[in-house]
Amino acid sequence: MIDRCGRTIDYLRISVTDRCNLRCIYCMPEDGVKLVDRSLILREEEIIRICRVMAELGITKIKLTGGEPLIHVRMPELTAQIKRLPGIRKVTLTTNGVLLKEQMKDLAEAGLDAVNISLDTLDRECFRKIARRDLLDQSLEGIQEALRYPQVSVKINCVPLGIQGQDICQIAELARKYPVHVRFIEMMPIGCGTEFKGMAETELVALLEKKFGPLSIYQGKPLGNGPSRYYEAEGFVGKLGFISAVSHKFCGECNRIRLTSQGFLKTCLQYTAGRDLREILRNGGSDEDLKKVIRQALNEKPDGHHFMEKAQEDDTEKLCMSQIGG
Ligand code: SAM
Ligand code: SF4
Repeated sequence: MIDRCGRTIDYLRISVTDRCNLRCIYCMPEDGVKLVDRSLILREEEIIRICRVMAELGITKIKLTGGEPLIHVRMPELTAQIKRLPGIRKVTLTTNGVLLKEQMKDLAEAGLDAVNISLDTLDRECFRKIARRDLLDQSLEGIQEALRYPQVSVKINCVPLGIQGQDICQIAELARKYPVHVRFIEMMPIGCGTEFKGMAETELVALLEKKFGPLSIYQGKPLGNGPSRYYEAEGFVGKLGFISAVSHKFCGECNRIRLTSQGFLKTCLQYTAGRDLREILRNGGSDEDLKKVIRQALNEKPDGHHFMEKAQEDDTEKLCMSQIGG
C-alpha cells in the first residue's frame, strides 16, 4: 500500500489487549487503564480476518503488542494462524517478558520470527519503581528462555528515564554477553509519558562511549522492521540501537499503521486519525468494505508527528501507549 505521501506501508502493529501485568510509570497510570468491556476487544477470528485483508492489501509484517500481549492466553495459536496467511512474511512480538518463560516454546513452534523484550533496568528496586511490580526475575527468566531459540531473534528495548538506579551501561552489557541487540527508546510525550523527560541520545552515546569505547555506525543489512539506528562496540556480540522518534524524526520513512485492541485503525501515533474497523466487522461488512475504509484511512495518514513544534491540538491522541499498542 502506498499512502498519500508516497510512503510504502507494509507493517501493521496490533494491540491484542489493553490490559497489563505491569504498570510502568511512563506508560500506564497506577490503577491501570479504564478497562473497557471485553466484548469491545477484538476477538481472535476478527484479528485474523483483519490480518488477512491487510495482507491482501500489501502488509507483510505484523507485530503483536499491547498492553501485555502474553496475557492473551492463545498467543501461540494467534501467531501460527497469522503466520500461515498468504503474504505475511514476518510475525513478531513485543512483551515485558514476565510470562515469556512458559510460552516461548509454543511461540517458537508457532513460527514467531522475533521477540522484543522491554527491560528498563537490571536493578530490582529500580524495576519496582518503574514497573510498580516486583517482577524483574520473571522478566529475566523470559529473556533467558527466549535465547534458547536461535531461530527467533531477540531484542531488548529500554526506555531511559535518567532516574537513580537505572544503569544504562548494565543494560547495554547484555549485548556484549548475549546475541541480542539492545535498543534505547526515546521517551515519547504520549499519555503518562508526557510527565517524563527521558534522556537524549547524545547523552546516552556519551555515557556508553565512556564505558565501552568508541561506537561505530553499523552499516550492514537492516536488523528489523523499524527506524532504529544501530552502532557497534568493540567486543560486543549484539548491536546497540537508538529509536529517537521525537528528536530524530523519521516520519518521512514511516512504514506502519496500528490497530488498537478495540479495532481502531490508527495511522499516526500522535493523532487520533484513523477508522473504526470493528464497526465494519460486526455489522456484516465485506472484505471489500474493509479494504475501502483502510484505503481511506491511509489517504488521510498525517505526514508526520509535530511533537516538537506545537502544543496539544484537538486531534492529539489522549490515550496512553498501552491502549494504543506501543
Ligand atoms: N507490554 C509490552 C512491553 O512492555 O513490551 C508491549 C506494549 S508496550 C506499550 C511497548 C513498548 O512501548 C515498550 O517497550 C515500552 O517501554 C514502550 N513505551 C510505553 N510508553 C512509552 C512512551 N511514553 N515513550 C516511549 N516508549 C514507550
Ligand atoms: Fe505494560 Fe508494556 Fe506499558 Fe509496561 S510498557 S505498563 S509492560 S504495556
